[in-house]
Amino acid sequence: MPARTGEQFLKGLRSPREIWVDGERIGDVVDHPKLRGAAHALADVFDLHHEHGDVCLMPDPETGEAIAVSHMIPRSREDLAKRGKALRRVAEYSVGLMGRTPDYMNVTFAGFAGRPDEWGINGNEAGAERLIAYQKFLRRADISLTHTIVQPTVDKATGDAPTAGNPYALHKVEDTEHGIVVRGTRVLATLAPFADELAVYPAAPLPEEADAYALSFCIPMSAPGLKFLCRDSFSSPTNRFDHPLSSRFDEQDAFVIFDDVEVPRERLFIDANRAAYNKVPSSSWSPNIQQQTMIRAATKLDFAWGLGLRMAAAINAADPETQRMIGEIWAYAEFTRAAVAAAEAEAREWPSGLWTSASGPLHALRAMLPLWFPRVNEILRQIGSHNVFATPTLAQMTDKDLRPLIDRYLPGAKALPAEERIRIFRLVWDFAGGALAGRNEQYERFYLASSPRNLARHLAFTDRSRADRLVDRFLKEPY
Ligand SMILES: Cc1cc2nc3c(=O)[nH]c(=O)nc-3n(C[C@H](O)[C@H](O)[C@H](O)COP(=O)(O)OP(=O)(O)OC[C@H]3O[C@@H](n4cnc5c(N)ncnc54)[C@H](O)[C@@H]3O)c2cc1C
Repeated sequence: MPARTGEQFLKGLRSPREIWVDGERIGDVVDHPKLRGAAHALADVFDLHHEHGDVCLMPDPETGEAIAVSHMIPRSREDLAKRGKALRRVAEYSVGLMGRTPDYMNVTFAGFAGRPDEWGINGNEAGAERLIAYQKFLRRADISLTHTIVQPTVDKATGDAPTAGNPYALHKVEDTEHGIVVRGTRVLATLAPFADELAVYPAAPLPEEADAYALSFCIPMSAPGLKFLCRDSFSSPTNRFDHPLSSRFDEQDAFVIFDDVEVPRERLFIDANRAAYNKVPSSSWSPNIQQQTMIRAATKLDFAWGLGLRMAAAINAADPETQRMIGEIWAYAEFTRAAVAAAEAEAREWPSGLWTSASGPLHALRAMLPLWFPRVNEILRQIGSHNVFATPTLAQMTDKDLRPLIDRYLPGAKALPAEERIRIFRLVWDFAGGALAGRNEQYERFYLASSPRNLARHLAFTDRSRADRLVDRFLKEPY
């Protein structure tokens, strides 16, 4: 089947699944007021692949059918550049606010399928073959995946990964005739209501004797025993004037409970194999997926910069401090764009023939963006001041008695019409201050681990040889 349309995507979402939002088990995620906006936004993302087929679609290497470029397994620098263009197009749709549009998992699985040498270690050759078969299914059926890779937090003192006997974390319970039964929980599946299947794959390395937790598989959202407890909805199902972003871009996040779920063998990629589990995320996973995440981040930063510029112009805030703060957002955007470009320019080939961007620039960004994004929101709110709340709603704007007064008393500087001024400040608040903005800031802080953790792990992603050489010159010279 070629790349799906939005309509086909929405039809798929109507399959049964156990999704809970605000105390209610949702029967139909497509039409529910708190989910409808994002469901239709994601349908637009599927449609834009067809509208921009020259950038977003390519022939499947085996069937020739048109598939999304995000499913491509990059085999050259040119492939990476092609993928970068398609990812940029998707990121622009939600101005980077939806972190887990389906291209995120498409890129992830393309990267996995490009590394059978890693997945197939320690007797896991069959698991690696099943993974490659699954990626072919994924790219041809063009389904939407959610994922959960982080272990639940119960007692931080016990470490990041579960030790033997931990009853909370997802683990294997038994073998069955057709597969295995798993039980436990994982956090936090973004996009869960809008996915066709759930992916579980490795993250933090597991300690000895924790083999039961070493699992990777994909199962349909309808699998019996699978339950998704969504966080409070931050969707504002009003209209696009009042809530231009939160009316459509709340991608949701869900705590996942596996209440004795059977995983069919053909969907099992790692079955209690700790060596394979610990190997998979250790090398190409990070630079592969971070091409997607950093292109999204660069898009979001450009948007934030644009917001700062528009806001300052709307009230003619030409003072040096306002200009300095807008310049600060511009600098973050420029550093991000430059790091993505540098990572693509320094792209490398892995032993299996997979190409990824270079790790260093992307990992540096990953460590800094959790600090930059909250700062960007702070700047926008600082510039916005009370203006973000001097913003009549659509209902007020369309009231025949109020409208002339709003037009008279709420213009911007240099005769900017009131409606334009109001739209700018509503957009700013929805981006940097409202409920979804708070969730998005939390996402940026944590979605691929916190800044301190990424900084502490920087040596795993870079080459220190030049730094050593520069220092050694002084330490080793004769005195
Ligand atoms: C909105 C949102 C969406 C998410 N979506 C998904 C998803 O779709 N799929 C998924 O699998 N996961 C998802 N996650 C989970 C995410 O991957 C984790 O929250 C993330 O890895 C952080 O892990 P943690 O919660 O254990 O926090 P920690 O890393 O423990 O950080 C918490 C605090 O402790 C400090 N800290 C802890 N340990 C250290 C250390 N060793 N060194 C320095 N500082 C430390 C950090 O600085 C931080 O302030 C999502 C999270 C959020 C917030």
